Amino acid sequence: MNQEQMKQAFTEKYGTGGDIRVFHAPGRVNLIGEHIDYNGGYVLPAALEFGTALAIRANHDKVVRLASVNFPELEGTFALPEIGLGTTKEWMDYPLGIMTVLQERGTSLSSGYDLLFFGNIPNGSGLSSSASIEVVTAYALLSLEQGHIDTVEIAVMSQRAENEFVGVNCGIMDQFAVANGVKDHAILLMCDTLEYKRVPFRTGQYKLVIGNTNKRRGLVDSKYNERRSQCEAALTALQPHVDNLSYLAQLTPEQFGLLEEQIQDSIVRDRARHVVEENARVLASVEALRQDDLKQFGELMNASHESLRDLYEVSCTELDVMVEEARRIPGTLGSRMTGAGFGGCTVSLVHEDDTDLFVQQVGQAYRERTGLEADFYICGVGNGVEEWNG
Ligand code: ADP
Ligand code: MG
Repeated sequence: MNQEQMKQAFTEKYGTGGDIRVFHAPGRVNLIGEHIDYNGGYVLPAALEFGTALAIRANHDKVVRLASVNFPELEGTFALPEIGLGTTKEWMDYPLGIMTVLQERGTSLSSGYDLLFFGNIPNGSGLSSSASIEVVTAYALLSLEQGHIDTVEIAVMSQRAENEFVGVNCGIMDQFAVANGVKDHAILLMCDTLEYKRVPFRTGQYKLVIGNTNKRRGLVDSKYNERRSQCEAALTALQPHVDNLSYLAQLTPEQFGLLEEQIQDSIVRDRARHVVEENARVLASVEALRQDDLKQFGELMNASHESLRDLYEVSCTELDVMVEEARRIPGTLGSRMTGAGFGGCTVSLVHEDDTDLFVQQVGQAYRERTGLEADFYICGVGNGVEEWNG
C-alpha cells in the first residue's frame, strides 16, 4: 500500500479528520557476515524495498488503539496508564514494547494515538518483520512527540523492546539495518560497538533474490548455543598465545594459521576458522563493492555459504539445494544461506534478465528435490525508516 492507500485504510477504520502521518520501515537481509556478530566481527546487512507502513494520528481519548491490516481480527485499545503494565502475547506486544521502552527513557506519550499497520514482509521468515514494526513505531512516535530522532538510538530501543518486552533474545543487527539503511547502500556494522559505515551497493542490473526454504526450523536454539560455546572454547585456547585477544574475529586468517594448532579439538578449530575467514570475507566484500566488482562480491557470497556448510555446519539440505540450484542460473553471481541457518532464507545476486528464470527453475528443482514449496522475493536495496511524504 502506498501513502494514499494507507491514509484511506486509516480513515475507514478510525474516521476522518486530524493530521494522519504515514511512516515506513523496511525488512532487511544480511548480505554476508554470518555467525560473527557474537565473535566481535563485522556484518553487512542491507534494508529491503518492502517493509511495514504505519499510519498514525493523535487522538483526544487518552487511549492507544492498535490495528494491523495483517491481523484484522486482533485489535486492541489500551488506556495510557496501562502501557508497560503487561504483555498481550499477540503482535500488539511489538508496538506496546516500544511505547514501554520510550516511557522508561522518559518519553511518556503526551496524548493517545490511533495506529494502523500494514506489512508486506513475510512474517517469521528471517527478513525481520519484527524489527521493521518496532522501528517504524519508535520513529513515528518520536517524530510526533519530539521531532528529534536519532536512528542509532531507535535501533537500540527497538532491540530492547524485543528482548525485554516481547521476550526474544535477538542481537542488534536487524534493528540497526532497518533504522539506518539507505537506498543502494549496505551497512558495515560492528555489533558490539555499533561502529558502522554505509557502503555503496550499486546493484545496477542485478537484483537480490531472496528464497525462503519454508523448512520448519528445529533445534536452532540449541545449535546456536552450542556454536557460541565452541567459539568460547576456541578463544580460551588461543588467548594465552595472543595479547589482548577478546574476540576471535580480531584475528586475521594469517594470524589464525599460525595459531590454530593450539586448538586441540578439530571441530572447534573449524568453527573458529569460519569466524576468522568470514570476517575477512566481509572486509573483502566491502572492498569489492567499493570497486563495483559485483562478480567478486558474488564469489565471496559463495565462499561464505561453503564455510557455513562445511566448517560451521549450520546449513541444511534445503538451503544447500536452493543454493546449488541458484548457481545453475547463468545470471547468478553468488548465492548463500542468510541468517542463523538450519532453514530460513537464501540470498542470491541475480541479473534482472534472469530473475524470472531463477524463480521458475530454482523453484521447480527445489520442489522436486525436497518436496517443499519455496517462496521468492525479488528486490533491490531500499531506504531505512522514513516518513512517507506525498
Ligand atoms: P521475523 O522478524 O523473522 O519476520 P518474528 O517472529 O521475529 O519473525 O516476527 C514476526 C511477528 O512480528 C509477527 O508474528 C507479528 O507478531 C509481528 N509483525 C510483523 N509485521 C507485522 C504487521 N505488519 N502487523 C502486525 N504485526 C506484525
Ligand atoms: Mg524477528
